[in-house]
Amino acid sequence: MGQHDAAFNPLTYTVWYEYAAGVNAGLNQALDQLLKVKPRLSDADLRELYQMHVADVDPQAMHRIGGELQRVMATMAAAAARTGDDAGEFGAQLETLVTDLQAVNDKLLSPSFSQAVAGTARMRSSVQSLETEVKGSQSEIERLHKELTRVRDESLVDALTQVLNRKGFDQKLADMLERAPQTGHSHSLIMLDIDHFKQVNDTHGHVMGDRVLQAVGEVLKNCVPPGSDVSVARYGGEEFVLMLPDSQPQEAFMLAELARTRTQALKIRDRRTQSVVLTVTVSGGVAQMQPGDDAQSLIARADAALYQSKQTGRDRVTCA
Ligand code: GH3
Ligand code: MG
Ligand code: MG
Repeated sequence: MGQHDAAFNPLTYTVWYEYAAGVNAGLNQALDQLLKVKPRLSDADLRELYQMHVADVDPQAMHRIGGELQRVMATMAAAAARTGDDAGEFGAQLETLVTDLQAVNDKLLSPSFSQAVAGTARMRSSVQSLETEVKGSQSEIERLHKELTRVRDESLVDALTQVLNRKGFDQKLADMLERAPQTGHSHSLIMLDIDHFKQVNDTHGHVMGDRVLQAVGEVLKNCVPPGSDVSVARYGGEEFVLMLPDSQPQEAFMLAELARTRTQALKIRDRRTQSVVLTVTVSGGVAQMQPGDDAQSLIARADAALYQSKQTGRDRVTCA
């Protein structure tokens, strides 16, 4: 990395790491090709390589790479420290040897002895500076790792409503389905859809529609008790989902009802006059994970229950 002009940042680290680790054949081929014509790579080169060959890497892989880089650096720092200590010990032994020989006969000492002593001292100091440098890189990588985590988390949040976006939901749901619930508990999914939302947009405009989405997102977040592992996500458009890992049978229905009644009580006001401009309602569908379920089948059942709520008059919750 040091031989190139590109800056050190999570993006370039990722490109170089994948290159060095040999885990991305396409990248290695492209980079080798480029290095033949351009020995010093710029930010633009690295960005292009990233976009062409790395951008699709899944966020978990990015996380793993960060962790692996840190481990590599820690191993290097430890090795450098050990080499430094060994060099120090060797230097001390040489000096003792010189003193002993001097005591026996000064003439036995050839100039190469003092050269060896001086050489060892130099070697020790350069190993020590290597150790310092490696430790410096280690803390830099740690910082980048945190940055990477922050960027990754940001990419999973919906900008408008500040709840998880679809990608965040997919990941959380996959995590949830991977773990088996405790006996007597179940993983549940609540699907909520704002009623007649098209009419909100048509009557009050898209900007007001966006404000409603923000407000509903806020309501849903506030329905989740602090410290609980329930996640809230925007599934798309005016649809939201709540995930309840390891929950009791009635818990999901009660939470869906809480979300419904609190949304019903929500008043969207005119920012200037503070008069109530509109209220909205949501319909909900609740599904519990059953043996053999995958993400698709669980979502489909919650969706069917939601459809049932729409069919039977909206502003209600149906359990699959
Ligand atoms: P139903 O009660 O059956 O759910 O009716 P609905 O009008 O809510 O459903 P429909 O699917 O007909 O309309 C959804 C509307 O949501 C249409 C779309 O323009 C609007 N919408 C989707 N995403 C956004 C958004 O990000 N902002 C705004 N303002 N509107 C959005
Ligand atoms: Mg909808
Ligand atoms: Mg709707």
